[in-house]
Amino acid sequence: MRTVYLNGDYMPENEAQVSIFDRGFLMADGVYEVTSVLGGKLIDFDGHAVRLQRSLDALEMQSPISKEDLLEVHRELVRANGIDEGMIYLQITRGAPGDRDFVFPDPETTPPTIVLFTQNKPGLANSPAAQKGMKVISIEDIRWGRRDIKTVQLLYPSMGKMMAKKAGADDAWMIEDGYVTEGTSNNAYIVRGNKIITRALSNDILHGITRAAVLRFAQEAQMEVEERNFTIDEAKEADEAFITSASTFVMPVVQIDDAVLGAGVPGRVAPRLREIYLEESIKAAV
Ligand code: PMP
Repeated sequence: MRTVYLNGDYMPENEAQVSIFDRGFLMADGVYEVTSVLGGKLIDFDGHAVRLQRSLDALEMQSPISKEDLLEVHRELVRANGIDEGMIYLQITRGAPGDRDFVFPDPETTPPTIVLFTQNKPGLANSPAAQKGMKVISIEDIRWGRRDIKTVQLLYPSMGKMMAKKAGADDAWMIEDGYVTEGTSNNAYIVRGNKIITRALSNDILHGITRAAVLRFAQEAQMEVEERNFTIDEAKEADEAFITSASTFVMPVVQIDDAVLGAGVPGRVAPRLREIYLEESIKAAV
């Protein structure tokens, strides 16, 4: 049984209970982060802590914990659960006011709820999917307009994954006005020649922590990066494609709808970026 963290205390997972009036449960009024663990250490912890604060600020939600204490809780959960490779899920909601009301409760009387738990994933870094490459389908992006805030409102991304599964694919890329926004739980990229192309940051996409690191490493390795919109048609004619996220790192995409990219196997750029990302971020892990 896992040891989890709830509102200041560590406890067995079956003892952790949250109110039925919690606004995370009633209104998806909460934010989250997922940090990966490799070799028992946290990957990109700082980036996740900074984005968490940004999400909280955007929703005028109080933080129940300092960055230093948050690091300590992450480390303690890794230790208590013996995690070598896996993830730590963190969620903060606007708390449980004791009734249902659209108006935000007073944070003085309704403190936020904070939950963290671990997910053990041995073999996360050596995933066979990275050798084979993924198939994605394209679906319309019908999410709200503040996708830069990492909220727990994940119903449409969850439906997108189900549409992909039904179509025999691994994931879905979302399309708005003909342009790819992002994957259901990852950022999307195409490669043309030596150029890595990905949508620029705005309210339309989540500002991926893995994205920031991968683009930095790409530039340091003298690869060309172009941050601009690309259409799904351009993607289908690209030399390569890939996704990034904290739990998949860099993952090649070899098929988009019916279009097979290149030879239908991972190309040159995505596997190289995966290698660099893993190597550099393990070196910098805390
Ligand atoms: N876009 C969306 C919609 C996501 O849900 C995620 C992962 N949570 C990402 C991008 C990738 O972000 P990160 O690299 O910080 O995991």
